[in-house]
Amino acid sequence: MKAKLRGHHLICLNFFRGEGYSEDFISNIRSVIGKDLVEIVEGPDEVCARCSYLKENKCSSNEYTDEKILLQDKEALRLLRFKSGEIVDWKIISDKLPEIIEEWKVEFCLDCGYMKVCFG
Ligand code: SF4
Repeated sequence: MKAKLRGHHLICLNFFRGEGYSEDFISNIRSVIGKDLVEIVEGPDEVCARCSYLKENKCSSNEYTDEKILLQDKEALRLLRFKSGEIVDWKIISDKLPEIIEEWKVEFCLDCGYMKVCFG
């Protein structure tokens, strides 16, 4: 089974601790991270598809703008050295995390509401 995920979710889902915007959203993430392979996509993905903030194919979160989310996707792919359309597995992703996570944290985590969930 193959999940379709946007760039920043390749990083953030590694820190999923069972929290999220709704029960439906959370159970969908559980099923997404249970899939062996990930196809990298641009824009809204399988996680966004069950998110109440997805409006007209854009992220309308109170916390982020759609532009910031797209920038996060771009930066995640740059740091991980992946491209949209590639198919990867979770191990390849998690093996790369130690070398990129500090830069990622500085760029995006410090003002994210999930910072405490991910890093305590
Ligand atoms: S908040 Fe935005 S980027 Fe995050 S899952 Fe919802 S629609 Fe997607």
